[in-house]
Amino acid sequence: MAAARPFNFSAGPAALPLPVLERAAAEMTDWQGSGMSVMEMSHRGPEFQSIIRKAEGDLRQLQGLPEDFAILFMQGGALAENAIVPLNLAHKGRVDVLVTGSWSAKSANEAARYADVQRVVDTQPGGYLDIPPASTWALRSDVDYVHLCSNETIDGVEFAELPDLQTLGCQAPLVVDCSSNQLSRPFDWSRVGLAFGGAQKNIGPAGLTLVYVRRELLRSPLPACPTAFSFETVAREGSMFNTPPTYAIYLAGLVFEWALGFEYAGLRGLAALEAQNRDKAALLYGFLDRSALFFNPVRPDVRSRMNVPFFLRESGLTDTFLAQAGAAGLLQLKGHKSKGGCRASLYNAMPLAGVQALVDFMQDFERRHG
Ligand SMILES: *Cc1c(COP(=O)(O)O)cnc(C)c1O
Repeated sequence: MAAARPFNFSAGPAALPLPVLERAAAEMTDWQGSGMSVMEMSHRGPEFQSIIRKAEGDLRQLQGLPEDFAILFMQGGALAENAIVPLNLAHKGRVDVLVTGSWSAKSANEAARYADVQRVVDTQPGGYLDIPPASTWALRSDVDYVHLCSNETIDGVEFAELPDLQTLGCQAPLVVDCSSNQLSRPFDWSRVGLAFGGAQKNIGPAGLTLVYVRRELLRSPLPACPTAFSFETVAREGSMFNTPPTYAIYLAGLVFEWALGFEYAGLRGLAALEAQNRDKAALLYGFLDRSALFFNPVRPDVRSRMNVPFFLRESGLTDTFLAQAGAAGLLQLKGHKSKGGCRASLYNAMPLAGVQALVDFMQDFERRHG
């Protein structure tokens, strides 16, 4: 028997559920008697077609995604979507962006290459610790879309719920970068026009990007858009315009199966994952708020359940903390290079026991260094 695996707090590419990795290993050289690895199959053959259509159906069921949305399996990551989205949607050339952290700041900069961008909100001067109330947003009425990042992976700032643009007097579709909190909680899809996210945070390996798009938004892109990145084309071809990232889709499909069967607190599926995510975050923030050594600076009502940046009041102890945590089987807690400090990412694959182990270790570290 192998020793227990360490707890991996990576922000992404991130930990995957062990049963998923074990199943992928067991099926590596021969997928279900086909005599082929999934990596060796034609993407148009019946075997892979069954894999991708099941993955799509399971994802739709997990997300509670209405039929008027298409699911696209794309490549290029979330940063490519920062260009692909304006190239497909910015026909009037006007985009409003809520800048609430490092990723939405990048989205605003990239969209500005294709459109007139207004930063409706920009919390950079305050260090990205807050989201101003929706009543203060000066949204323009005639934009192609409004962009936000539902969970800022680096800054640890999350929208507790997606805003309803209609009640704010804005008819434009809402575009959401949900890379790091898709499948961590249910979304109110009635408020969304399009959402996208890289898989490598909460879903599967890097190389796969998921796009959830309202079918009524599918139309010819701007002429500069590569055909392989036309939402209309990719949707029409069932994500088979060109070769999709087949192995990443297969692995994501295994994660969806695992998630559908996930049980916690008498719940099942996405509701169970959300409940565990809520408990994990409450455990860690509860400790941070009681600690004399560790702290999280984000305003409590916009704190992320998925990514928890934290700092030591004695910053000279940070490297010692990270080295000792690693030796104790608590991996990849180093903060993003732009922020320093530490960050614990608590995606779906992280069990409550992993967060308990982290809190126990931090408590002990504080006792030893207090
Ligand atoms: C990781 C991340 C990105 C960048 O994703 P890539 O796949 O590296 O392009 C963008 N937005 C958010 C919210 C992220 O967490």
